[in-house]
Amino acid sequence: MLRQQKNALALVLLSISLTFAVQAQEVTDDTLKNAANSGEEWLTYGRDYFESRFSPLNQIDTSNVSQLGVAWTFDTDSFRGLEATPLIHNGIMYATRPWSSVFAIDARTGEKLWDFDPQVDRSIGWKACCDVVNRGVALYEDKIYVGTIDGRLIALDANTGAVVWDILTVDPERPYTITGAPRIADGKVIIGNGGAELGSRGYVTAYDAETGTEAWRFWVVPGNPAEGFENPDVEFAATTWSGNWWEVGGGGNSWDSIIYDPEARLVYIGTGNGSPWSHELRSNGEGDNLYLSSIVALNVDDGRVKWHYQTTPADNWDYTAVQPLMLADIPFDGVLRKVIMQAPKNGFFYVLDRITGDLISADPYAEVTWASGIDLESGRPMETPQARYDNAISFVMPGPGGAHNWHPMSFNPVTGLIYLPTNQGSSFPYSIQQGFVHKPGTWNIGVTMGTMAGVPVRPEADYAGGTGPETRSPGALLAWDPVAREPRWVIDYPFSINGGTLTTAGNLVFQGGGDGFLRAYTADKGDLLWQIDLGVGIMAPPVTYELDGKQYLAVLVGWGGSAGLIGPSETGEYKPEGRMWTFVLDGDTNIVPVTGQPLPELTRIEFNDDPAALAHGEDIYGKRCMVCHGAGAASGGALADLRYAAPATYDIFHNIVRQGAYTGVGMPNLGAFVTEEDADAVKNWLLSLRADLMNP
Ligand code: CA
Repeated sequence: MLRQQKNALALVLLSISLTFAVQAQEVTDDTLKNAANSGEEWLTYGRDYFESRFSPLNQIDTSNVSQLGVAWTFDTDSFRGLEATPLIHNGIMYATRPWSSVFAIDARTGEKLWDFDPQVDRSIGWKACCDVVNRGVALYEDKIYVGTIDGRLIALDANTGAVVWDILTVDPERPYTITGAPRIADGKVIIGNGGAELGSRGYVTAYDAETGTEAWRFWVVPGNPAEGFENPDVEFAATTWSGNWWEVGGGGNSWDSIIYDPEARLVYIGTGNGSPWSHELRSNGEGDNLYLSSIVALNVDDGRVKWHYQTTPADNWDYTAVQPLMLADIPFDGVLRKVIMQAPKNGFFYVLDRITGDLISADPYAEVTWASGIDLESGRPMETPQARYDNAISFVMPGPGGAHNWHPMSFNPVTGLIYLPTNQGSSFPYSIQQGFVHKPGTWNIGVTMGTMAGVPVRPEADYAGGTGPETRSPGALLAWDPVAREPRWVIDYPFSINGGTLTTAGNLVFQGGGDGFLRAYTADKGDLLWQIDLGVGIMAPPVTYELDGKQYLAVLVGWGGSAGLIGPSETGEYKPEGRMWTFVLDGDTNIVPVTGQPLPELTRIEFNDDPAALAHGEDIYGKRCMVCHGAGAASGGALADLRYAAPATYDIFHNIVRQGAYTGVGMPNLGAFVTEEDADAVKNWLLSLRADLMNP
């Protein structure tokens, strides 16, 4: 063939492929590698392989952000926590809602294209420590991937939502759940699991994205040595354990953070807390218990450990290092370093060399009383004397909620700042649960749960020798400078839980609040430029994308999660419907906040006001009911407020609590844990609270 003919043919083929590309461009390894460069789409959980959540879009900027109005909304037909980061590709938005269902909507109009419900058996909802939430999907080639509350990993056709493959990644006899978004690395789809509060052995698995065939598994903690070790990494970890940890499970479950560096060909995993929480009960108080509460770098080809860094050796406080990981290339002392960064629950902000695992810095981003600092030479924390509790209560900051949880942070390369949502007031009265025995089917933390309910006394001695800024407010947005190792500006919030963040080239930071407001700040100075009331507490991080030359801002709004279950909602809305909100510069500025369902009128029901009977009911409630129905039975608005139950519901209280009458809506059968007498006591105590509501 002549050269001109060849060129002409190539041109024709090119124009065909370009036309085709507009309709259905596939997400390849190269697309993912280059995702940071283009702002039109949002292709992975953290937008790009650095998970920086920085968008180069700048149509919306500091001069016009206050003009944002609604482009469209989509009601999710769900009434519990929404935590997902939506992905946007080929003009389609993909997101998830409670019970792991996936929806695809037209990103221009909000029109639903398809909906997929994995039909999770509602009776296993109790396995989810922190609500039946889901943080989103992964996208690769022509498929969407979702992990489900019952531990499956499912591949769907991105265009139709049809199931391509559906595999079980866990032992269904154990309390494993999946709430995190899968990640794509080198043709594999990678997913972890949760379950350390209930008793399980954590792991992360890579599957072939095309077929679902297992490629490798990284076990976070060793199993029973008598059964042999899966590989030398596990064998090494076992030298740091003592006792019979495998009977409860050991924990370490990696339920959120997975990040991939395609150049280094390393997958980084953030690992979870010990199971049970108490180091004494778990490992006779001996050993570091690898790879709990660690950042672990794994070879993408075989899942073997390249390096590990343990943020909390011998975890004793539910200090997960599962919080979002972020990669960046930042100059330190004039040298460009390839770093990995994390603000785990324990209150220190870590920067490590992501190739070698060397610790570069670790500084308190919140008030910390369990350690006075991190020794940069050894990389180990310097624990305070009161940090390790026994049977007597010791107050420790942060508490199990962490000074930062799963709510994603973002990094703006222009300002050099990380926008970190913190939960600063989470002090907790830790004490070892006396007579602890592992009981499958319930929480197994080895720490007295009843003490969680509003213990106001905080002895001064428990705060001695700590570090970090003194707590000024329950929650905050920190603009953290990772090079200067301190915040450049801080926004204090009078409530603890706030949403993840997004930052853009428009010099903006966006964040939703637990109070239901969506806000925009200047990225360099933290000046508040825009806030609107959406009615319902916001946890999910906003995203941005561009279609037809128009920049959109989108965020899922729905209250729940662990904080949404255990504490009253800041907005006071009861069981509000979740909603996807999207905004554009020429949108509708008449914004009507979502409202919840009205609480029923109360009628008085007789109860026994004997103080001992009430105390017994409160005690059982604290141990068996509180983590879902709220401290003091003050529901966070996502689940039933038991004080407001209809009289007919109280009539069948035993059927619900002890015989599983409501398993179909997620209420577990507690027959094995709550005696008839205990159930009566809980009901009686609830009725006393109901009477208090009627006569405040
Ligand atoms: Ca935990």
